[in-house]
Amino acid sequence: MKVTAAVVNGEKRDFELEEIELDAPKDNEVLIKLVATGVCHTDVAGQDGLTTPMPVVLGHEGTGIVEQVGAAVSSVKPGDKVILSFSYCGKCRNCLEGQPGMCEKFNDLNFAGPNFDGTHRMHKDRHDLSLFFGQSSFATYTVVDEHNIVKVPDDADVDLAYLGPLGCGLQTGSGSVLNYLKPEPGATIAIFGMGPVGLSAVMGAKIAEASRILVFDLNDQRLAMAKELGATDVFNSKDIDVEATVKELIPGGIDYSLDTTGNGFVIKNAIHILRPAG
Ligand SMILES: [Zn+2]
Ligand SMILES: [Zn+2]
Repeated sequence: MKVTAAVVNGEKRDFELEEIELDAPKDNEVLIKLVATGVCHTDVAGQDGLTTPMPVVLGHEGTGIVEQVGAAVSSVKPGDKVILSFSYCGKCRNCLEGQPGMCEKFNDLNFAGPNFDGTHRMHKDRHDLSLFFGQSSFATYTVVDEHNIVKVPDDADVDLAYLGPLGCGLQTGSGSVLNYLKPEPGATIAIFGMGPVGLSAVMGAKIAEASRILVFDLNDQRLAMAKELGATDVFNSKDIDVEATVKELIPGGIDYSLDTTGNGFVIKNAIHILRPAG
């Protein structure tokens, strides 16, 4: 079928709205009418040509409605509201042990361009367009593997437009806290960087009942939002010596520390404020 997609035709090129050809879903696949999509920094990396062969249809925080399902699909039916997330094989050791985010085929399935079976789903003028995270949500419709889908409960009274970032940024932050750090109730945690990943880590820490949630950023507006979401102590890092401030507040050191900035100086601070077993 003909659909409209925001195509990136070369490294660092602008998005171009184009009519493209979308294949029908195969047995294990689902046709989705997209409603909304988040924009993540990894989309920018894709646009810069750092992740995926060009031309590419980016987008990996999509939400939409199921239009059609392949013969082997059992988890959703036409009309269901869904969130799209990353692609994984479901068969390798890490997938079978409940760690699909660590799928051994993660890079191939999410960044190499084709789908599971080595073929593409989007085409233009007889050229294949790379898929991104197996979903390419910067389009009016897409075809994804059943694995990419999380069904929104039928009785959930929510606006799909708000759910897109659950597919990447929000689960990255809250999942890092709830599934990896697993702070005990009453624990102390410091979180660096209050973008969507850091802010959702704050929500995860609050759900885990951390007693102190210290957060650091350079942007006061984001710090204010962190406070609204559950941070107990907010700091603009440019005004303070992070290590000295935390040591004064929690002399023994902090239990858990999470960096979402990727900045070497910040990571050093995040480690130095930990208690010995932190
Ligand atoms: Zn992302
Ligand atoms: Zn796997």
